[in-house]
Amino acid sequence: MSEQTRERAPERRVVVVGAGMAGVQTAVALREQGFTGPVTLIGAEPHQPYDRPPLSKAVLLGTAEGSAFDIDFEALRITLRLGCEALGVRPDEHVLDTSEGPVPYDRLVLATGAEPLRLPDTEGVSGVHLLRTLDDAERLRPLLARQHDIVVVGAGWIGAEFATAAREAGCAVTVVEAADRPLAGALPAEVAAPMTRWYAEAGAVLRTHARVRRVEPGEGSGEPGHVVVLDDGSRLPADAVVVGIGARPATAWLAGSGIALGAHGEVLADDRLRTSAADVYAVGDCASFPSGRYGERLMVHHWDNALQGPRTVAADIVAAAGELPEPYDPVPYFWSEQFGRFVQYAGHHTAADTTLWRGDPASAAWTVCWLREDRLVALLAVGRPRDLAQGRRLIQAGTAMDPRLLADPAQPLKAATA
Ligand code: FAD
Repeated sequence: MSEQTRERAPERRVVVVGAGMAGVQTAVALREQGFTGPVTLIGAEPHQPYDRPPLSKAVLLGTAEGSAFDIDFEALRITLRLGCEALGVRPDEHVLDTSEGPVPYDRLVLATGAEPLRLPDTEGVSGVHLLRTLDDAERLRPLLARQHDIVVVGAGWIGAEFATAAREAGCAVTVVEAADRPLAGALPAEVAAPMTRWYAEAGAVLRTHARVRRVEPGEGSGEPGHVVVLDDGSRLPADAVVVGIGARPATAWLAGSGIALGAHGEVLADDRLRTSAADVYAVGDCASFPSGRYGERLMVHHWDNALQGPRTVAADIVAAAGELPEPYDPVPYFWSEQFGRFVQYAGHHTAADTTLWRGDPASAAWTVCWLREDRLVALLAVGRPRDLAQGRRLIQAGTAMDPRLLADPAQPLKAATA
């Protein structure tokens, strides 16, 4: 059907809640896909919408002032309502309740992202920091500049990136991790093992099997000064404590709305990112979706998912009656910059998949592949972006692979097909 003859759905009011990557991209994708009706983007934070990955990198180190999206919302006729918090939804009445009063909608998109988990009993304790928002990064930046002694709680992606920046700034850094290795929730032991060395090489102390019991006021060299007390009784003095122990979907405000949530509080979306309530979608960190490719529901807390998902939401909103847009079935992707390395992961693997190494993990660049039967389902590339790009396409295509060729890092990955 040509664009001229195709009958579009009548233009309705779209309200997007959450002005992070997923919310902003939804609003932009609606315009890109020809939606001409009113679009309102509501965000709790007072700042112009901004990107989060630079917060643990350039913004923290002061090499970038901020990370606001370079988008002309006015030209796109996207109404921004910042500093406005959504408090509830009444799907039967098509009304969103906010701190500024009720907002009626025809289509509602939930894009409220995730919020970081806190250490118990540390809410509001000065000197105990999280790293999720621009305000968090701005609070942390001067601590790095003052070369404080810092204890980082959690050796996950955020903990590793923060430790990298803090070492680069000349801080003394101790990272405490309850598990036996970094990234225990994301990667198997044999893959995470080489990463343990990265901490020591960067001059950071990594203490595994180290669970925080409490944070006490104490005698760090600066003010206010804290002591992180571990389960084994060890006491770690710190000027500042940075907590990176994971995040959960920011959906508490949906309680009582009747919108179905999963075990982690995530909005349960379908394969077109529609929720259990009519005319309500969910996208980005706050949602999970059924992956046809992997045969299970995925909750992806990474940037690329907040870029791709909105295109599906917009396509479904602009679809003409009877038209069925493509289901959302991405090959998930993310990257991390830590300890001078560029780490990239594409796909999704489980413990049942076969692990195959390409290259020596003691070297500067190596890749790990995961195979399900003869198909590549995921790969982690350290300093090998070409492997990542080719692998991502092979996963997408479901191409059968030759494990012998795949294990040879001298062979281009795209040539390792069966
Ligand atoms: P968010 O970015 O969390 O945006 C949601 C927005 O909704 C927030 O602004 C929030 O204030 C607002 N909101 C919440 N509740 C309400 C409410 N009730 N009413 C109104 N507004 C509300 N991913 C990568 O792949 N690579 C990286 O290198 C990387 N680095 C990162 C570094 C940091 C420091 C952080 C925090 C994340 C990083 N990520 C990275 C993850 C990536 O940034 C997220 O996956 C992405 O931001 C998710 O976008 P989102 O829009 O779903 O959620």
